[in-house]
Amino acid sequence: MLMTRSVFLPFALPDIDQNEHDLIRQTLDSGWITTGPLVRRFEREFAAFVGAKHAVAVNSCTAAMHLALEAIGLQRGDEVITTPYTFAATAEVIRYFDAKPVLVDICAEDFNIDPERIEAAITPRTRAIIPVHIAGLAARLDEIREIASRHQLAIIEDAAHAFPTHYKGRMIGQALPGIQHAVCFSFYATKTITTGEGGMIVTDDDQIAERCRIMALHGISRDAWKRYTAEGSWYYEIIAPGYKYNMTDIAAAIGLAQLAKAERMASRRRVIAQMYHDAFSDLPEVQIPLDPASYCSESESQESNLQENKRQSHAWHLYMLRLNLEQLTIDRGRFIELLKAHNIGASVHFIPLHLHPYYREVYKYQPQDFPIAYQQYLREVSLPIYSKMSDEDVNDVITAVRTIVAQHRR
Ligand SMILES: *Cc1c(COP(=O)(O)O)cnc(C)c1O
Repeated sequence: MLMTRSVFLPFALPDIDQNEHDLIRQTLDSGWITTGPLVRRFEREFAAFVGAKHAVAVNSCTAAMHLALEAIGLQRGDEVITTPYTFAATAEVIRYFDAKPVLVDICAEDFNIDPERIEAAITPRTRAIIPVHIAGLAARLDEIREIASRHQLAIIEDAAHAFPTHYKGRMIGQALPGIQHAVCFSFYATKTITTGEGGMIVTDDDQIAERCRIMALHGISRDAWKRYTAEGSWYYEIIAPGYKYNMTDIAAAIGLAQLAKAERMASRRRVIAQMYHDAFSDLPEVQIPLDPASYCSESESQESNLQENKRQSHAWHLYMLRLNLEQLTIDRGRFIELLKAHNIGASVHFIPLHLHPYYREVYKYQPQDFPIAYQQYLREVSLPIYSKMSDEDVNDVITAVRTIVAQHRR
């Protein structure tokens, strides 16, 4: 007889411990709680972690992407290529400029934008590409960069899921040479590191970094935040009508504590992913997500240099299981209801943009306009994967999934 767990397992939980509490208390006691020295330290440490020249902290990844598009000079009527398989933020920031999001379908294997379909979507109005590294697995950046370079397009990476992620030996956040480029991270409560709400723009481009820094704080001249400090001055100049997107030192305190344990949290998520792979790979009713760790061949791992050059890693922000619906008597919605009956929280990533009323109405989209995104959406279930989960929690998820499958296989 299966025992359902007695306490609901949330789909996501932040990993907060004494260090966050101590740093928040110190910040509150310091007398400086908005943008200040801790934000600057968080920016420096984050830039060093990913290997980028500049990092600009803001209050969300949405703000980060808005500022990055502003910094590359996006104009009304321009077009930006992105994927339908993403969160609202990726496309809404394009609409802020009255520019057009041009959607390009995904690869079925990894849910990421399909580079082979990008070129057909380019027009004289195209200014940029926003790839999204879904779940924490990098999109095919080499191919995307080559296309962007050939057509003189900027790349703004939506890296909300991709910290820390390696792509061909480089960490997401590092420069892509030869193009205008910035990478945007999220520290929303459910993401791989959190500040409650927060985001970061990372770039090696001095001009993009400077413009983002100014526009994140009302478009006022450099180091505006210092005007109330001992070394600051009351004088400032407004050079453009900017935004109010700055990160607070309270948020940065949380971010610094999170960054210090980012590797440990990532390795715990890798262990959980492997437990899921092992538990589900023999089930014909489900498809486990692509794991770059499994396609680094044995011979490569013998040569450590080569391996370091080619290192691919998955941040495992999400574990996107897929149902083989033709093997099951229930659909995805019912599957999630049954998980809930077992006291397991689950979710769906994502409802493709072209299915939402706003994009349907404005751009007259039909579900089949992006058939791969649509088909994969119908079968996707995201399982809980976060460092706070105990082995017992993981095993409860495994038992629930295997039980539901066993009771509803064709
Ligand atoms: C969470 C998320 C965002 C937005 O991040 P915020 O920090 O909440 O603004 C953007 N893109 C993707 C793919 C996300 O999942």
